Amino acid sequence: MKYLILVGDGMGDLPMPELDGRTPLEAAKTPTLDSLCQRGELFRTRTIPAGYPPGSDVANLSLLGYRPEEYYTGRAPLEAAAMGVKLDADETAFRCNLVTLSRETKSRVRMIDYSAGHISSDESHQLIEALERTCSTDRFHFKAGVSYRHILVVGGDYPFMDTVPPHDYIEKDVTEPWQRYMAVPEWKELLLKTSTVLENHPLNQKRIQAGKNPANGIWLWGEGKLPAVPSMFDRFGLRGSLISAVDLLKGLGVNIGLNIINVPGATGYIDTNYKGKADAALDCLKTQDYVFVHVEAPDEAGHQGLLQDKIQAIEDFDGKIVAPILRGLEERKETFRIIATMDHYTPLSLRTHTDSPVPTLLYDSREDKKGSGLNFSEKTGDIAGQEEGGTLPNGEALMWKLLQRQA
Ligand SMILES: [Zn+2]
Repeated sequence: MKYLILVGDGMGDLPMPELDGRTPLEAAKTPTLDSLCQRGELFRTRTIPAGYPPGSDVANLSLLGYRPEEYYTGRAPLEAAAMGVKLDADETAFRCNLVTLSRETKSRVRMIDYSAGHISSDESHQLIEALERTCSTDRFHFKAGVSYRHILVVGGDYPFMDTVPPHDYIEKDVTEPWQRYMAVPEWKELLLKTSTVLENHPLNQKRIQAGKNPANGIWLWGEGKLPAVPSMFDRFGLRGSLISAVDLLKGLGVNIGLNIINVPGATGYIDTNYKGKADAALDCLKTQDYVFVHVEAPDEAGHQGLLQDKIQAIEDFDGKIVAPILRGLEERKETFRIIATMDHYTPLSLRTHTDSPVPTLLYDSREDKKGSGLNFSEKTGDIAGQEEGGTLPNGEALMWKLLQRQA
């Protein structure tokens, strides 16, 4: 038996006037998802526990079968894992953005750009190396990631600081959180030192001359220790792979012992290498039991508020991921159970995530045509979800359902 989970990130949405009251998922042509749903089972899954932010990290951890209440320790340790940074048990990882801050007066700080103009990795690595050379101590170490996204590893106990994500403060005053950071002497020293090094770095002078946002500060957030998570094999008896363009997802996979497949040309947007991802999924199922395929594009289109791109992303998920994988499995005469769903909604009208339970379809190749008779959408999911047992309380329940086993 082969088990598959196919995720269109942020695919869920709200009815839109531009679409005569339909959602992008309803408006998109999704013949494969609809057919699987009609011949399979439709229900909803609660991916975001009450009180948790509806982030992709929390939601996808759920879809992998792990309860965030038990296993979520923060975003940075997952990204560190994806970068190959090994954390010791007493170390904490912080996300360390290179940002553009404006300090027009001594007391007020503004977040001009949470990404320092989406600085290139080439440039940012020079800056992070400079910081590691001049500002690291026994306790603080900088690890270079991609573009503006880096990691600060802190050894031992760290001074508490109520951190906030910098992208929540685009073009906004950050004086209040900045002062919270500066109230802790150890952080104050680090932040002032790093600012001085960055501001005086020739690379930043060049950026200013070229009219680009300089990376003149760091912003620390998303902190956590490495979660002690049992592997997918220990927990569910499965050996498998995870396919995604996104570091966060790769980090989740690394931590639960999944094989991470890096598909060339996987970009996280509608220009991604869909065929490469579908082929890779079919390939790993030749030797393994389980594959988790994540497609980022619908979420990105949602954040950018681009309706046509979101519809395109959903149609591509259907036509270029779900359809060829299904065809491949049928050609090989595999017996399989397949889930198609999303991690959360990313409504175009809100341009951010919500925590609604997500429509989920489950198709079993042995039970073809016994199914729900419904197309795959938020609305049909909500209808199915009203029935007794129609809404699964969490992703762990989804995993047991997929495996037809009890916890
Ligand atoms: Zn997501």
